[in-house]
Amino acid sequence: RKHSDDKPQAKDIRIRDTNVFYSNFHALKDINLDIEPGEFFAFLGPSGCGKTTLLRLIAGFVEARTGSVQVAGSEILSLPPWRRDIGMVFQSYALWPHLSVWKNVAFGLEERRLPAAEIKQRVGAALEIVGLNHLGNRRPSQLSGGQQQRVALARTIAIEPKVLLLDEPLSNLDAKMRVQVRRELRDLQQRLGLTTIFVTHDQEEANTICDRIAVFRDGEIQQTGAPMQLYERPNNLFVAGFLGTANILEGRVEGSGSSRAFEVAGGGSIPVPADAHVPPGAKLVFRPQYATIGTVEPDAVPLAGAIAHREFLGATVRYGVEIGKSTVLVDAPFHSGDALLSPGSKTVLGIKPGSALWLAA
Ligand code: ATP
Repeated sequence: RKHSDDKPQAKDIRIRDTNVFYSNFHALKDINLDIEPGEFFAFLGPSGCGKTTLLRLIAGFVEARTGSVQVAGSEILSLPPWRRDIGMVFQSYALWPHLSVWKNVAFGLEERRLPAAEIKQRVGAALEIVGLNHLGNRRPSQLSGGQQQRVALARTIAIEPKVLLLDEPLSNLDAKMRVQVRRELRDLQQRLGLTTIFVTHDQEEANTICDRIAVFRDGEIQQTGAPMQLYERPNNLFVAGFLGTANILEGRVEGSGSSRAFEVAGGGSIPVPADAHVPPGAKLVFRPQYATIGTVEPDAVPLAGAIAHREFLGATVRYGVEIGKSTVLVDAPFHSGDALLSPGSKTVLGIKPGSALWLAA
């Protein structure tokens, strides 16, 4: 593994029409998903939406009622977990407390009854990859959370999996450590060229390290795409609200053809660009930094409102602005000497129709 010409061929994963039930509970509904070789892929969604279930299905700890999962063209659902060549790192790390770091990493290889010389070589290489060769004699309790996480990772790398599955591996770390370890994880994944799936409910984590994301809700995949694509072109209100802050204005579309306009409930009208798709029951959605406050640029449309509250954040000021019955958030860049707008005062928002989205539930 240390030689670049020795790098394993990255594998792809194809999931087709997959349904999983826990007794009568329909936990995964018609899942279809393609993960490319060497991709760092995130399963993102709120608690209980089925992310872990799909990970456990791939690993072999949960059964599908229908469907198929292929790794590099071979069906794996009929194989027991230990014959799938898949490495899984659990949220809890599941390290043996009474064994040294070295023994923890060697454990899976000893179970596979590999020759002692090969075990020694593989454990050494795996610990070197995660930078823990010097701590082989310690017990897990003598390590920091981030180091324990790396031991769990080394143990998985040592079995040389085709695919790496990570179930919220950073959730036990403090905020600073999480940022550092996630970068290391990304580096390592790139160096090894491992197809990796990362389960998280933290959109920032998914955005910063993953190539693509599948957004889950109630056992279904809502949308799949690169982080920026999901942020800029969400398919529905759920995805828009889960990736970043989304302002939602109620209202309805009047007119037709090139004279369509969105009549905002409580006043104001935004022309709908001719090429915009507006699904039935759509609401107007925009990001806090896509509106201006107090000024309206030439290509923007004015919307009257009143300041409800404000938060000074340093680089920006985040205003809550009442428009009819809704309160929207608007981020204004802050420059030295700027006067802030006061709660209660009337103001105007400038919204560019081209940066707005029309989305339904
Ligand atoms: P979290 O982020 O909280 O881990 P998740 O998205 O990973 O959530 P899953 O663990 O996949 O969610 O669970 C999906 C749904 O299936 C949940 O409603 C959960 O309560 C249910 N569930 C999970 N495991 C079982 C089980 N063994 N028996 C019955 N229901 C289960």
